[in-house]
Amino acid sequence: MIPDHIVNDLKAMARIEDVAMNIHGATQRGKVYTVNCPNCKKIDGLQVVPAKQLAKCWKCGLGASQAVGYLMKICGKTYPEALRYIADLYKVVLP
Ligand SMILES: [Zn+2]
Repeated sequence: MIPDHIVNDLKAMARIEDVAMNIHGATQRGKVYTVNCPNCKKIDGLQVVPAKQLAKCWKCGLGASQAVGYLMKICGKTYPEALRYIADLYKVVLP
Protein backbone atom coordinates (compact mmCIF):
# COMPACT_ATOMS: atom_id res chain seq x y z
CA MET A 1 0.00 0.00 0.00
CA ILE A 2 1.15 3.51 -0.81
CA PRO A 3 0.68 5.89 2.15
CA ASP A 4 -2.18 8.41 1.76
CA HIS A 5 0.01 11.50 1.87
CA ILE A 6 2.10 10.16 -1.01
CA VAL A 7 -1.05 9.26 -2.95
CA ASN A 8 -2.22 12.85 -2.48
CA ASP A 9 1.13 14.21 -3.65
CA LEU A 10 1.09 11.98 -6.73
CA LYS A 11 -2.43 13.09 -7.65
CA ALA A 12 -1.51 16.73 -7.12
CA MET A 13 1.57 16.62 -9.34
CA ALA A 14 0.19 14.41 -12.10
CA ARG A 15 -0.92 16.25 -15.24
CA ILE A 16 -3.27 14.50 -17.64
CA GLU A 17 -1.38 15.93 -20.63
CA ASP A 18 1.94 14.53 -19.36
CA VAL A 19 0.42 11.07 -19.13
CA ALA A 20 -1.24 11.37 -22.54
CA MET A 21 2.06 12.45 -24.10
CA ASN A 22 4.03 9.75 -22.36
CA ILE A 23 1.69 6.90 -23.22
CA HIS A 24 0.07 7.93 -26.48
CA GLY A 25 2.43 10.56 -27.87
CA ALA A 26 -0.25 13.24 -27.69
CA THR A 27 0.23 16.18 -30.03
CA GLN A 28 -0.14 19.72 -28.71
CA ARG A 29 -2.55 21.87 -30.73
CA GLY A 30 -2.81 25.22 -29.03
CA LYS A 31 -4.53 24.78 -25.69
CA VAL A 32 -5.44 21.14 -26.21
CA TYR A 33 -3.58 17.93 -26.92
CA THR A 34 -4.90 15.30 -29.27
CA VAL A 35 -4.48 11.56 -29.32
CA ASN A 36 -5.68 8.92 -31.74
CA CYS A 37 -8.56 7.41 -29.77
CA PRO A 38 -7.54 4.01 -28.36
CA ASN A 39 -11.20 2.93 -28.33
CA CYS A 40 -12.72 3.94 -31.69
CA LYS A 41 -9.34 4.57 -33.43
CA LYS A 42 -10.46 7.98 -34.65
CA ILE A 43 -7.40 9.99 -35.68
CA ASP A 44 -6.98 12.83 -33.14
CA GLY A 45 -10.36 11.83 -31.70
CA LEU A 46 -9.35 12.08 -28.08
CA GLN A 47 -8.89 15.65 -26.94
CA VAL A 48 -6.98 16.34 -23.75
CA VAL A 49 -7.67 19.71 -22.12
CA PRO A 50 -4.94 20.69 -19.62
CA ALA A 51 -6.93 23.64 -18.20
CA LYS A 52 -9.71 21.26 -17.14
CA GLN A 53 -7.60 18.10 -16.66
CA LEU A 54 -10.09 16.26 -18.86
CA ALA A 55 -9.87 13.96 -21.86
CA LYS A 56 -12.77 13.20 -24.15
CA CYS A 57 -13.25 11.56 -27.54
CA TRP A 58 -15.73 13.56 -29.60
CA LYS A 59 -16.58 10.50 -31.69
CA CYS A 60 -17.19 7.63 -29.24
CA GLY A 61 -17.50 9.54 -25.97
CA LEU A 62 -14.58 7.83 -24.21
CA GLY A 63 -13.49 10.19 -21.50
CA ALA A 64 -11.68 10.63 -18.22
CA SER A 65 -10.67 13.29 -15.77
CA GLN A 66 -7.33 13.74 -14.03
CA ALA A 67 -4.21 11.74 -14.79
CA VAL A 68 -5.35 8.83 -12.61
CA GLY A 69 -8.66 8.66 -14.50
CA TYR A 70 -6.84 8.71 -17.83
CA LEU A 71 -4.67 5.79 -16.78
CA MET A 72 -7.62 3.78 -15.50
CA LYS A 73 -10.39 4.50 -18.02
CA ILE A 74 -8.37 5.03 -21.16
CA CYS A 75 -5.36 2.82 -20.49
CA GLY A 76 -7.15 0.10 -18.50
CA LYS A 77 -4.84 0.22 -15.50
CA THR A 78 -5.96 -0.52 -11.96
CA TYR A 79 -5.80 2.25 -9.35
CA PRO A 80 -2.51 0.99 -7.81
CA GLU A 81 -1.00 0.56 -11.29
CA ALA A 82 -2.02 4.11 -12.17
CA LEU A 83 -0.39 5.49 -9.02
CA ARG A 84 2.80 3.56 -9.68
CA TYR A 85 2.86 4.78 -13.27
CA ILE A 86 2.62 8.38 -12.04
CA ALA A 87 5.38 7.79 -9.48
CA ASP A 88 7.64 6.44 -12.25
CA LEU A 89 6.81 9.31 -14.59
CA TYR A 90 7.67 11.97 -12.01
CA LYS A 91 10.59 10.05 -10.50
CA VAL A 92 8.96 9.67 -7.09
CA VAL A 93 10.48 6.88 -5.06
CA LEU A 94 7.78 4.86 -3.32
CA PRO A 95 8.37 3.23 0.06
ZN1 LIG B 1 -13.13 7.38 -29.58
